[in-house]
Amino acid sequence: MTETETEGEGEPEHRRLLVAGTGIAGLTAAIYAARSNHDPLVIEGDEPGGQLTLTTDVANYPGFPEGITGPELIERMKTQAERFGAETRHGVVERVDDSTRPFEVELAGGDVLTADAVIAASGASARTLGVPGEDELMGYGVSTCATCDGAFFRDQELVVVGGGDAAMEEATFLTKFASKVYVVHRREGFRAEDYWIDRVEEQVDAGEIELVRNAEVTAIEGTPEGGIEGVSLVRHPEGHPTEKLDDPRTEEFEMDVGGVFIAIGHTPNTGYLEGTGVEMDDTGYIATEGGAGGGQTRTAVPGIFGAGDVVDHHYQQAITAGGMGCKAAIDADDYLESLGGRAAEGTAVAAAESDD
Ligand SMILES: Cc1cc2nc3c(=O)[nH]c(=O)nc-3n(C[C@H](O)[C@H](O)[C@H](O)COP(=O)(O)OP(=O)(O)OC[C@H]3O[C@@H](n4cnc5c(N)ncnc54)[C@H](O)[C@@H]3O)c2cc1C
Repeated sequence: MTETETEGEGEPEHRRLLVAGTGIAGLTAAIYAARSNHDPLVIEGDEPGGQLTLTTDVANYPGFPEGITGPELIERMKTQAERFGAETRHGVVERVDDSTRPFEVELAGGDVLTADAVIAASGASARTLGVPGEDELMGYGVSTCATCDGAFFRDQELVVVGGGDAAMEEATFLTKFASKVYVVHRREGFRAEDYWIDRVEEQVDAGEIELVRNAEVTAIEGTPEGGIEGVSLVRHPEGHPTEKLDDPRTEEFEMDVGGVFIAIGHTPNTGYLEGTGVEMDDTGYIATEGGAGGGQTRTAVPGIFGAGDVVDHHYQQAITAGGMGCKAAIDADDYLESLGGRAAEGTAVAAAESDD
């Protein structure tokens, strides 16, 4: 018998609601769902607490005028969810089978559960460079979120890595605080929209931004105690210098900066929904109904809801993720109520959908 089978019956453990993710969205959903007596099971994934656990200071989450550390905010939310009866559990959701009702949910390691409703709150992972110093200094001078951390770098010279819209937006935003922003991009041309390139060019003319083209960061130097000391880079006149390290035209150089913002995109964590009817938008994020009124977090599969950064490729803030988690729990509550007593009996898909 696997860990999740019900004692004596050999049946998989059944839950009314399963939440994938213990970031802000998943924990907020858990608080609301627990208070609606849906006994939610929240699966942590391989990053318990989500992205906020990567940051030392959260200064913009309402209700904490002195700020709060990411891990503490998450721990408080987890305690709050558990106080109302939510259960958090180690594990990673590997697969959801939406061809049956209840849904069949398989965890890494092979355990299988069933659930009447699922909230996908599995977030998005910022892509990183994979260079020495990056992991150790994440949260200590290296950041993937200018909106979140920019204000900690007043009057410092900063590097933004990337060439898309996000990098241009972050660089423009950081000029509010930094004495100078260097945008390091591995090619000559930027793939950002003209709107953002024009804004950056204005800042270049004003001396606030400098473009470092055809260059890549190869190492970040510093210590968690002392912060960033500088970055090492390579440059090649035809771009993609790390692929041309043996070429004599590749030059190595250093930059003395106080912070590094990596803006090379996010990858939404949706692998476990492959093969389901849940639809994704062009950029791979879960498509939800959106709009005004109830049901905004519904996906294309009745009973599966999406919340937080796995849906939102724009706002990507703790407060917005929490707001969506709340909406998803309320939408799931409506859905579960519409199933009534049939939910626990594993009513067939067609019946559930025809009531939706
Ligand atoms: C360095 C940094 C600093 C930030 N600072 C701030 C700030 O100061 N203020 C602010 O408002 N925002 C900040 N943000 C943004 C904020 O952290 C995110 O917007 C927010 O965490 C999104 O919450 P989420 O719950 O949607 O996703 P996430 O926080 O990404 O959480 C996703 C959760 O899903 C889990 N998961 C993933 N895949 C699976 C799976 N297959 N099965 C089960 N679980 C899974 C993960 O383990 C994780 O628990 C920061 C982000 C970063 C990276």
